[in-house]
Amino acid sequence: MKIYPWEKVAEIQGDHRFFQCSRCCTDEVWDAIEPVSRMVEAMGDGLEVPTELVPRCPHCGAEAFPWVRGYGNFLQGELYEEQYRKVSNWLDAHARQRILFLELGVGRMTPAFIQEPFWALTAQLPQASYVAVNNKTQFLPRAIEDRGLAVRADIADVLADVRKTLGR
Ligand SMILES: [Zn+2]
Repeated sequence: MKIYPWEKVAEIQGDHRFFQCSRCCTDEVWDAIEPVSRMVEAMGDGLEVPTELVPRCPHCGAEAFPWVRGYGNFLQGELYEEQYRKVSNWLDAHARQRILFLELGVGRMTPAFIQEPFWALTAQLPQASYVAVNNKTQFLPRAIEDRGLAVRADIADVLADVRKTLGR
C-alpha cells in the first residue's frame, strides 16, 4: 500500500490500518491509525495503554483488534470480498499470459492464503512460473519443479543481485 495504488493491491490477509470488532458484530472496519498513534503517545516510555484508549467496537462495545488474519476471528466481510475479487478478476484477465508468482517472505503460518494458491496456480497455468525468497524456509513442490525456484536468502540481497544482473 505504500508503493502501489489501492486497486492493484489485494489485502486478503487484512491490513493493520483498520480495526474490526472482535465479535464480528458488524461488517464495518474503521481507521486504526489515529487511535494507535494516540495509544503510543499515551504509553510514552512505558508499556501500558490507558483503559479508555483500548479500542472498542462502536456498535457493541467489544474490544476491537486489527483487521488482520491471526488476531482472532478475522472478519471476512465485504472488504475481504473486495480484496479477493481483485485477485480473481486479475487472474481471469491474465490467465493466458506469462505470469510470475513472486513470493517474498511469505512464511508457513497461513500457507492456505498465498503460498498454496501460488503453487496450485503455477501448476494449473501453463505459462506461469513461481519464485519464492525466504530467509528461513525453502519449499518447492515437485509438481512445479520445472517452472519454480525457491531461494533461501535475505530478500534485500536477492533483489540487489537481480538488479545488478539486469544492469539497473
Ligand atoms: Zn461489535
